[in-house]
Amino acid sequence: MKQKEIMLNTLRKEDTALLSELNADEIGNEHIGTSIETPMKKNAFDMSNDEKIKKIEFHFKEIMETLGLDLTDDSLKGTPNRVAKMYVNEIFSGLDPANKPIAKLFDNKYQYNQMLVEKDITFYSNCEHHFVPIFGKAHVAYISNGKVIGLSKLNRIVQYFAKRPQVQERLTIQIAKELQTVLKTEDVAILIDAKHLCVSSRGVEDANSATVTSFYGGKFANETTKQEFLKYVEMKTQY
Ligand SMILES: [Zn+2]
Repeated sequence: MKQKEIMLNTLRKEDTALLSELNADEIGNEHIGTSIETPMKKNAFDMSNDEKIKKIEFHFKEIMETLGLDLTDDSLKGTPNRVAKMYVNEIFSGLDPANKPIAKLFDNKYQYNQMLVEKDITFYSNCEHHFVPIFGKAHVAYISNGKVIGLSKLNRIVQYFAKRPQVQERLTIQIAKELQTVLKTEDVAILIDAKHLCVSSRGVEDANSATVTSFYGGKFANETTKQEFLKYVEMKTQY
């Protein structure tokens, strides 16, 4: 499998400069994001979820009709409402901070001071340039700074940020920053290995490529610690 690796510890100045020289089509096709925060309007939550569903349903019906589809067909007539509910309640529910997992921390009673790796977290997201799926595995790790987090919360934090229109680089950084904030430590590592359907099913139609992004904060920037993390990620499960 071909992979391109993108390191995200620092946003490079040359990338930012390059961005301002590209037009909207080029930005989309090159899959370049503009900021770490998901670009949101100030009034993003003035409308209720029900109002959003009604509005999306109306506009998605317009899109389908514009494409020439017959919305009186039994199979198609419910689609605009289904898509609208899926957008708001499921695949883009991570846009709403009200859905952010509340991370309860526990005392590190065992004094466990090695890295903890939660690997192979399956996630589904969507490319913000094409609104088609990105899916793959996220591997996250941290070294406790006195507190520990429930393992399922690591999974939920990944899912929360995945349920947004995304670019993989931003997804990686958003998960890393959230874990650093919640766990009150810089010592966080993320590796995401994902497939983008906008690359495999359209555009260059490369069905075999995958994209790897990584983040190594604090102690993980140390080569030995980073290699230990990567070794655990590569380790075949024995059960
Ligand atoms: Zn795309």
